[in-house]
Amino acid sequence: MKNAEKQTPLSLASLLAGALGCILYLSLRLLGTDSRGFIQTGHPVAILLFLLTAATLVGLAISLRQFKGTPSYNHIFPADLLGAIGHFVAAGGALLTGILTAVSQADIINILGAIAGILAAGSFVYMGLCRMEKLSPNFNLYIAVVPFFIFNLVSQYRFWSNEPEILRYVFLLLGNIFLMITVYYRACLFAGRNARSIYAFFHCGSIFFCGVCTVGANRFFYLCMLLWLFLDWFSLSPKKAAIPMVLPRKVLTCLNKLEENGFSAYVVGGCVRDFLLGLRPHDYDLCTDATPEQIASIFSKHNLVRSGEKHGTIGVVMGSRVYEITTFRTEGGYADSRHPDWVNFVSTVEEDLARRDFTVNAIAYSPSCGYVDPWDGQVDLASGILRAVGDPTVRFREDPLRILRGVRFAVTYNLDVEKRTEKAMLEQVSLMDTLARERVFSELSKLLLEVSAQDLLRFTPVITQIIPELAATVGFDQHSPHHRYDVFTHIAHTVAAAPKSLPLRLAALIHDVGKPATFTQDESGTGHFYGHAKVGGAMAEEILARLKVSNTLRKQVLFLVGNHMVALMPEKRVLRRHISRCGEHMILMLLCLQEADFASKGTNETTNHFSEIRALLAEIREEDACLSVKDLAVDGHDLMDLGLAPGPHIGQCLNELLRQVQNETLANTKEDLIAAAKEYFAG
Ligand code: ATP
Ligand code: MG
Repeated sequence: MKNAEKQTPLSLASLLAGALGCILYLSLRLLGTDSRGFIQTGHPVAILLFLLTAATLVGLAISLRQFKGTPSYNHIFPADLLGAIGHFVAAGGALLTGILTAVSQADIINILGAIAGILAAGSFVYMGLCRMEKLSPNFNLYIAVVPFFIFNLVSQYRFWSNEPEILRYVFLLLGNIFLMITVYYRACLFAGRNARSIYAFFHCGSIFFCGVCTVGANRFFYLCMLLWLFLDWFSLSPKKAAIPMVLPRKVLTCLNKLEENGFSAYVVGGCVRDFLLGLRPHDYDLCTDATPEQIASIFSKHNLVRSGEKHGTIGVVMGSRVYEITTFRTEGGYADSRHPDWVNFVSTVEEDLARRDFTVNAIAYSPSCGYVDPWDGQVDLASGILRAVGDPTVRFREDPLRILRGVRFAVTYNLDVEKRTEKAMLEQVSLMDTLARERVFSELSKLLLEVSAQDLLRFTPVITQIIPELAATVGFDQHSPHHRYDVFTHIAHTVAAAPKSLPLRLAALIHDVGKPATFTQDESGTGHFYGHAKVGGAMAEEILARLKVSNTLRKQVLFLVGNHMVALMPEKRVLRRHISRCGEHMILMLLCLQEADFASKGTNETTNHFSEIRALLAEIREEDACLSVKDLAVDGHDLMDLGLAPGPHIGQCLNELLRQVQNETLANTKEDLIAAAKEYFAG
């Protein structure tokens, strides 16, 4: 921000130059003695002034970009008020023009035009009140002004028949069309879509075409339109910028300490994004222009984590948490797909933000300077758009993990991926093969917990790139009356239907990976997948090893995939046996997977099967049932007290007792068990 503030005089100068140029140009056009305008006269002074205005406008737009978000900017453009004035001016223009033309020549077209003018004025007033937050905006009401432009255009048709005026008519035609499109995109902005650049483009176009042909009564109308556009466009600022971030005390301490030492310091990335989304940030990353050594010396009284120092990060331990403070940096590609090839420390936060992956992650905030958002991340957040910072193709090539991160952010925050970004994502997806598997799996794990079936279907190429074995399931017709979906669509629904637990979601993702390889059809054409759980289990083993999944998780997933076809019977005796073999937790997980599997067939089949089993499992738990040898009322010592020597036969006897207890042929009491043990050894 300090940096941006330094540019204020420059921005102000070009702002004033632009405004002056516009005023001069418009005054000359309006007050000029030649009522026919310069298209006919082609007066060199008019052309020169026009070009000057166009050039200063471009300069203005560029400098405003750097200037935006600074306190001075907000001071000069009190957004809501200016925008509202712009709308009221437009309302006046539309109203008067409509009425004046109707009065001057009361034919049917002009009368209709007057009515349209009144309607347009109404909707402009309404939108002005919206800008002042007196009312909430409505997309359709904005669009209601468009018919007015059509009438306005039609009412000028007489230029068309007049040979020397044809050019003027063409310009008016283009000017009005551009104005209509501008209004449409203005409405989009109100509706929360990010359309600022396109709005700006048509805005400039309408100024150009209408500006060069203002004549007669139209001058007043177009002047009003131009004023509206200027005031509205320049005062457009992301709403959220006004809300200061609420930061934890320790984070504030870090920021203050850095600032007291003469450095700039911001919180950045995920925490700003989460705050703007109304979510509670789960960690705070800080960035500063202080070098790692300077950070270390400022926080020398604290314990420091210096493992990331080479990449500019110092961890400052405060209480039970570590706050990572990173020097502003740019970075090279990730040739080893783990660490950037190089990092360069830089002096401005803007340069640091430019290296970040997505606009919504490239916003910085400090209590003293407010938001720094050169990539309009706040607009994207408000519009629900995920957009790469800069050229998406280049950014994904630098670090293909950003593709998967993109999918995760889109899915987690329900964002639409901007078209270019999505195209680049899908085009570059094969580059993900070069990534360190741990990085991929860590992102995949976060993604799986958030993903819906539609998300998985939309981003299928990303998923099959990570698990190529799934590619064969995509579009694989099951030829079964029990399955409406192809295998991958069924998988996608199963993942989404499974509870948000990593073993379950991962198992759901690969549970039917063995189906294509085991597919057969009987004489009636019905598809079967005999043994697919076993085949899938073997494939899962390879997949999980490749993804470098931890041992515990691997075992759980393999169990679930391998057993997902095992029929869990609603019988306590059988369930007890399952529990004693695999543990209650695993049986419950298997039940969840089977339930998700069943619910994802896409047919209307229903069953009480799962709720029955769940009820029985609860009963078993309540009865404190005997689920393992440990739960028996006797142990090995009790048996040895019968005079038996230690050895494997003790364990064998306990297992037999357990089997009988589970079969409910023996009560789990010490007396009965001892009696049964005696019998066992006697027999
Ligand atoms: P979350 O912590 O909720 O997963 P996050 O946005 O904080 O989301 P982190 O992985 O913690 O994600 O990264 C912190 C910030 O660092 C990001 O917001 C982003 O600005 C930047 N960043 C992280 N990884 C990359 C990357 N691969 N390429 C570019 N920028 C990245
Ligand atoms: Mg984070």
